[in-house]
Amino acid sequence: MTLKTPEEYEESIKRDVNLYLFGEKVENFWEHPIIIPSINAVKKIYELAQDDHYKELMTAKSHLTGNIINRFTHIHQSTDDLIKKVQMQRLLGQKTACCFQRCVGFDSANALYSVTYEMDKKYGTNYHKWFKNYWIDVQNQDLMVDGAMTDPKGDRSKRPIDQEDPDLFLHIIDEDDKGIYIKGAKIHQTGFLNSHKAIIMPTLSLREGEEDYAVSFGVDTNEQGITLIYGRQSCDTRKLEDGKCDIGNFKYGGQEIFVIFDNVFIPHENVFMKGEVEFSGELVNRFAGFHRQSYGGCKVGVGDALIGASALISEFQKVDRASHIKDKLIEMVHLNETLYSCGIACSSQGFQREAGNYEINMLLANVCKQNVTRFPYEICRLAEDIAGGLICTLPSEADLDSKEVGDLLKKYLKTCEDIPVKDRYKLLRFIENLTMGVSSVSYRTESMHGAGSPQAQRIMISRQMDIDQKKKLVKDLLDLE
Ligand code: SF4
Ligand code: FE
Repeated sequence: MTLKTPEEYEESIKRDVNLYLFGEKVENFWEHPIIIPSINAVKKIYELAQDDHYKELMTAKSHLTGNIINRFTHIHQSTDDLIKKVQMQRLLGQKTACCFQRCVGFDSANALYSVTYEMDKKYGTNYHKWFKNYWIDVQNQDLMVDGAMTDPKGDRSKRPIDQEDPDLFLHIIDEDDKGIYIKGAKIHQTGFLNSHKAIIMPTLSLREGEEDYAVSFGVDTNEQGITLIYGRQSCDTRKLEDGKCDIGNFKYGGQEIFVIFDNVFIPHENVFMKGEVEFSGELVNRFAGFHRQSYGGCKVGVGDALIGASALISEFQKVDRASHIKDKLIEMVHLNETLYSCGIACSSQGFQREAGNYEINMLLANVCKQNVTRFPYEICRLAEDIAGGLICTLPSEADLDSKEVGDLLKKYLKTCEDIPVKDRYKLLRFIENLTMGVSSVSYRTESMHGAGSPQAQRIMISRQMDIDQKKKLVKDLLDLE
């Protein structure tokens, strides 16, 4: 069976990793209260793939083996696959209200599939064959794979080879007949700890002389020489407290890891690019394009949860009949569905690469992500407007439950007979969580910087916009010389 159950997934990630959090080494990370919600979010993917109701979206037929696989390991074979990917991500955003972490490896695999094919065609290398073998194993074992792109980058005004510390961009430091040795770091690594494997890619388009930096490979996330440092998120230590309501989204959460590679060995058959500088930019662009498409799904699903919470709190506080509240909800839906439209549009306008797989429309994917850098902020603003100031002045759950002041708080937090105070409390904390707490990482900051900061999309839009063709339209319309 190629589909793992959530329980099998959880068992399979119980391995030794060199992980640090709050300055201390963490053993048995799967038992750590700050980490558990991020594992729950990934388990939701495995759970829904088992459910007949969701199998159309959550699974696909592998073109490599003919097996039914989790869609997160699929290589897109049609525009319908691209559309289903976005729909699946929206569904998971709705079910977890956070980042469920499995898309990055999915997007890197789909980018590498065509780039390795084109490299082999030009240079007679074996990358495509090696990558397919690697990926068949991922599909057959239903593995979670991270995709790692972002280097620390040091002095932004300098190229990788001009940095004082050459490790500020990940690179090859040695090579022998068995493989290559890697040093450097990848930051903002979504779900790296919860992944079995990772695909590493260059962070930017490289030039002649920078061959050691033009490297892509697959690696086990617990490989010798890899150190993981867990990223902090706003209000994360609330997960260490006794209660759960103060956490907001207490079942699910994202995960970001700072990953350091120190002389990590990679066998040749797991290397998918080594020195082909002219393909590095294409790999970056294709991966980024797929991930910008992803945001037209996942962020929309989380947006659905925030809109739902805003509508509910307006009912709980008896303002739901006010016309301006209704109008704010309409605006939130309008913004959210605009993002979804972009995700669907760049998918339905996708095209087939020579390797056979399907890719998104690059211009529309970049427009999608550019909108994502803005609309969730406005949706958050409207959610905060509707919810009211209590989302950031509310006393703790311990006070709500205390013998001394609990009844007083309940008396003054009561809105009307049929609304339990605890439910109102939960909703306010949930809105706090999504707009400024742990899940604001997935919903706000990641909307800005995930899949590339806004300027990166503007550069891609400028490359694709074809202003000359638009000017020609007007010249033809007006018979201009
Ligand atoms: Fe997937 Fe969204 Fe998380 Fe990226 S931010 S890994 S697209 S859920
Ligand atoms: Fe992301």
